Amino acid sequence: MQVSLLDLKAQYQTIKVECLQVTKEIFESQHFILGPKVEKLEKEIAQYCSTKYAVGVSSGTDALLVSLMAANIGYGDRVITTSYTFFATAGAVSRVGAIPVFVDIESDTYNISPTKIEDLIEKMPDEVRKTVKAIIPVHLYGQCADMDRILAIARKHRLVVIEDAAQAIGSEYQKKRAGSMGDFGCFSFFPSKNLGGFGDGGIVTTNSKELYENLKILRVHGGHPKYYHSRIGGNFRLDALQAAIVSIKLKYLDQWTKARQKNAERYRFYFKDAGVGHVVSVPEEKENRHIYNQFIIQVSEKRDELKDFLVSNNVGCEVYYPVPLHLQKCFVDLGYSSGDFPISEHAASHTLALPVYPELCKDQIEYVVDQIKKFYL
Ligand SMILES: *Cc1c(COP(=O)(O)O)cnc(C)c1O
Repeated sequence: MQVSLLDLKAQYQTIKVECLQVTKEIFESQHFILGPKVEKLEKEIAQYCSTKYAVGVSSGTDALLVSLMAANIGYGDRVITTSYTFFATAGAVSRVGAIPVFVDIESDTYNISPTKIEDLIEKMPDEVRKTVKAIIPVHLYGQCADMDRILAIARKHRLVVIEDAAQAIGSEYQKKRAGSMGDFGCFSFFPSKNLGGFGDGGIVTTNSKELYENLKILRVHGGHPKYYHSRIGGNFRLDALQAAIVSIKLKYLDQWTKARQKNAERYRFYFKDAGVGHVVSVPEEKENRHIYNQFIIQVSEKRDELKDFLVSNNVGCEVYYPVPLHLQKCFVDLGYSSGDFPISEHAASHTLALPVYPELCKDQIEYVVDQIKKFYL
């Protein structure tokens, strides 16, 4: 049996007619950048995420970058974020000239630990604390970070909160949608995300009219009116084609999310009787709406050997992420070393993402669990 980590072709077959139709319409119109398709998507995403506004941008990375710019974060400022995430989260901070300050994660959710944020801020000398301007919590793998506690810390220290919700569209924390709790919510339409386009794209959500207007201006080089620049922005525009495809897919998102949740449930069911509980732990179901961009297991031994074994038995799997950010070569100047964030480091060497995409069938999931069983027993 063949089980790939992600198979977008199956999903495309179900929306092919609509996609070709809208593609043709855009080709005929020759209107490719921003415009009515992007505006339509912005309204739909704002509604889906329960926010007042949304601004379509060129990628999830640029969503983070333009949010930092809109919050006036720059040279000499510090931004607190997780040591365990996709590179872009911290890369964006460095690109505006600010300093990423890493915090370890919680072992059950892989999300930033609020207790450790508090400890970090408390231990900072006053002059350093004054330079901390924002927190970027990441809702990793499709599950929200502990936002109540993060927002309380942010209020106390007057910090901007930028939610990196690139993996979490539609996920919820105490009935609140990802991207609606902080000052900004940053989403990615990279094809492997739950709501992916046919290329790069992203969007920023916000409830603030002022930030919304700033974002729109910064998206077009900071020109307002056109050719008059009181600020330096960038080319962060979204294509009409991507917006139109994402609009089509949005109609199916809840149905796809349900299928992912059902697959996660099936994994839990098969793992329960697999007899590998002493080596493999699977994510527990929490009350909050987890949208399973990834289904991550943690194994106590032989993670890399397991990965090779699964791949050689036609099961796609991947390590997200093999190197925590504080140990990346480009951040060596920040002065971190191995052992600084033990939970992130442990996750980097003991976790594995299994296929969880909506179109997977029961037999495929059973096969994946059987292979893992075969490897360990
Ligand atoms: C995918 C991702 C991004 C970047 O999104 P792109 O659209 O690829 O630029 C940022 N943060 C996280 C957590 C991601 O998973």
